[in-house]
Amino acid sequence: MSEELSEACGVFGVISTSKTQNIFREMYWGLLSLNHRGQQSYGFVTLNQGGFHKREDLNLIPTDPREVRSLESTLIGPIGIANARYATSGGSGLRHLQGGKQPLIVSHRGRRLALSYNGNIVNASALRSKLERKFGKFKTDADTEVLAKHILLSLDESAGDYERAIGEVLDIVEGAYSAMMIDSVDRSLYAFRDVRGIRPYCFGKRGDLYAFASESPALDINGFAEIDYVSPGELISVKSNGEMTRKQVRKARPAFCSFEFAYFSRPDSILNGTKKAVYKIREEFGKSLSKTYSDKTEPIDLIVSIPETADDSAYGLHEATGIPWERAVRKNRYVTRRAFISGTGERDDVIDKKVNIVSDLVRGKRIGVIEDSIVRGDTSKANIAKLIAAGSKSVDVFITFPRITNPCLYGVDMATYGELIGARMEPERIAKWLGADSVNFQTIDGLVNSIGISQENLCLACVTGSYPTATAQKLAVEIIRQHKTGKTATIVKEKRVYERRD
Ligand code: SF4
Repeated sequence: MSEELSEACGVFGVISTSKTQNIFREMYWGLLSLNHRGQQSYGFVTLNQGGFHKREDLNLIPTDPREVRSLESTLIGPIGIANARYATSGGSGLRHLQGGKQPLIVSHRGRRLALSYNGNIVNASALRSKLERKFGKFKTDADTEVLAKHILLSLDESAGDYERAIGEVLDIVEGAYSAMMIDSVDRSLYAFRDVRGIRPYCFGKRGDLYAFASESPALDINGFAEIDYVSPGELISVKSNGEMTRKQVRKARPAFCSFEFAYFSRPDSILNGTKKAVYKIREEFGKSLSKTYSDKTEPIDLIVSIPETADDSAYGLHEATGIPWERAVRKNRYVTRRAFISGTGERDDVIDKKVNIVSDLVRGKRIGVIEDSIVRGDTSKANIAKLIAAGSKSVDVFITFPRITNPCLYGVDMATYGELIGARMEPERIAKWLGADSVNFQTIDGLVNSIGISQENLCLACVTGSYPTATAQKLAVEIIRQHKTGKTATIVKEKRVYERRD
């Protein structure tokens, strides 16, 4: 992993047909297996005859047995939803982080909804103004409140008809959202996904339990089987008697996030019906690099991966070329970004402390480094300097994801546009800046063929500049135009949503 990129959220929800069963354990283990998708806050909501029960806090999901027992004693009931969040909307100050915790409970005319979602709403600012006229001033500056209140509004206008209401939400709310909610009136669990299906979403069944999750390992570890995928534009409801209904409410060309395969998702996830686990696809990334850059790999003595997301690609490159692969770069997993929240100087210091090179393995050798992506480039630069200081003869860098040249507006907090090294420099200049002999990016064809989903059904906006939704396209063009003309003071309001804030 080159820079600690952040994802919007991980979501998990479960419903039992037994009114007396408590689903806390499934919900807890499910969310814990998704903690990689968000570490700023966590939250759980359950519903029983006594109403909603909620626990939430900042930071990681607790693992201390006393805290877990305390959660279990509060979170009772046969239906629950949960969320591990990284903020991609609102600010990063304590007040904003507190306000943005999910699940969010909203109410209107006797209906109470608890909502948990993963993604980012692109047209949130415009929708917020409209919704504030109806519901009054918002309590938070997070997208979740926009989505939740739009659902309430649409349910109100459709007299509680979920199919009509979610259809309207899918038409009007632009962006990425894999959402789940509990309705206090009919005591059902609802799951729906934006029409492009940008973020992952799956579900499974175990006896009289149904569960929904961002990624399949959250279902696997709970023993759920019959795993399937919430289709883009689909609404699934599960009633408390176990009756499940699937409705394809809207249909559009899907655009699943290709970056999920390279970086975010767990290696043991199976995403979107690809039938192949993410680690296998990452091995293909390595094999693809070996084909594209055979002239560059030929003189290399040793393949070295930047752990842990590049390990599988390094194995693929090793398999395809026969070049030895060693884990010569070792990371201290306990050094996290939270330790250097306040500025560039501290960030450089932490990068330096996080990684250690096994000098004996690299000394006197021509090294091929595999990384999953380059965003700002500062971490790669620091790692290359360390490899050279440890005695490497040369360092060629192979990147499993193509060159990132455009901002992500769908919930991946990459960097500000101005910080994207790939937007400012061609590979030769990047290599020079990093202190490497060469930098070799995956081609778009190599990426697409390795994933096994056709290019028209993937989002590749951050590497092509072609966004699958209209407002995002306009917004990206405006961000880039204003950056290039230096008019940062007038950049559209939404831009702050995508600014990296630490
Ligand atoms: S722009 Fe890139 S990171 Fe964002 S959703 Fe599309 S492919 Fe994923």
